[in-house]
Amino acid sequence: MNVDFHLHTTESDGVLEASALLRTVASVGMDRFSVTDHDTLAVYERHADMLARFGERVITGIEVSTNTGNREVHILGYNIPIGPSPLREILVDRTQTRQRRAERIVEALNAQGVEISMADVRRHATGLMVGRPHIARALVDIGAARDVSDAFDRYIGADCKAYLPSSAVTPARAIQAINASGGISVLAHPTRSRAEELLEELVRDGLRGIEAYSPSHTAHDTERFRRLAHVHRLVMTAGTDFHGPTETNPYPGVDVDEADLAGFLALLPPSAH
Ligand code: AMP
Ligand code: ZN
Ligand code: FE
Ligand code: FE
Repeated sequence: MNVDFHLHTTESDGVLEASALLRTVASVGMDRFSVTDHDTLAVYERHADMLARFGERVITGIEVSTNTGNREVHILGYNIPIGPSPLREILVDRTQTRQRRAERIVEALNAQGVEISMADVRRHATGLMVGRPHIARALVDIGAARDVSDAFDRYIGADCKAYLPSSAVTPARAIQAINASGGISVLAHPTRSRAEELLEELVRDGLRGIEAYSPSHTAHDTERFRRLAHVHRLVMTAGTDFHGPTETNPYPGVDVDEADLAGFLALLPPSAH
């Protein structure tokens, strides 16, 4: 099966608008997918008609940014209701918190002598959620960084002076809110921020799945995640964390044996099959 359960649009920090992303998904001929914007379900509210065209091929989703200790952990939630839910409650003030955080990062950059303004950042953030990728793109525009990755390395990465976490929500809270909303909680990109070290703890918190397949994983990584999924009775998902076409990842989509997705797909309501 060709699937991608980790896609971003301009509703968060993707570079493609929903319409363009969905054209790409359609042209790839993906069997199943989910749009998982950071901390918002706006894509499902604002583009419901567009998404309805995909019928059972689309699964509602979100990626919740969480922090624990000094570590940033991203929890994906699938089969999320669009209306009121316990998850909604932990996301109510995200738009404002992210806006204030971006302002503080800009101030910290100004204090370092980098002449960047919120207007520069806002040009890249057309949706409600402003994030570091927008700041990174603005840093490239003003000539302060060579490219986005250079901007993260030098200015806004987790080890940089201007870094601020995006959220005070813990992974446990996000997992519990997703589960209590009837959704499926999944650990995103487990190799990042050494998140896999927390796996046992996250499982105790109620985690139900792991993003085992990603183009950023080595064969060795994927084997390890398949084994860990088996040990902890987690379902496996697959995603590219697509933010727009890049040289190394021009298209979204991952090819996975249907057997490896069976556990995940079985958790979806029959109407979504
Ligand atoms: P934020 O939620 O605002 O903290 O932004 C986090 C997002 O920035 C992640 O989801 C990635 O898409 C992106 N990101 C994080 N680190 C890097 C990096 N080193 N290079 C490029 N993008 C990054
Ligand atoms: Zn992102
Ligand atoms: Fe992420
Ligand atoms: Fe992501």
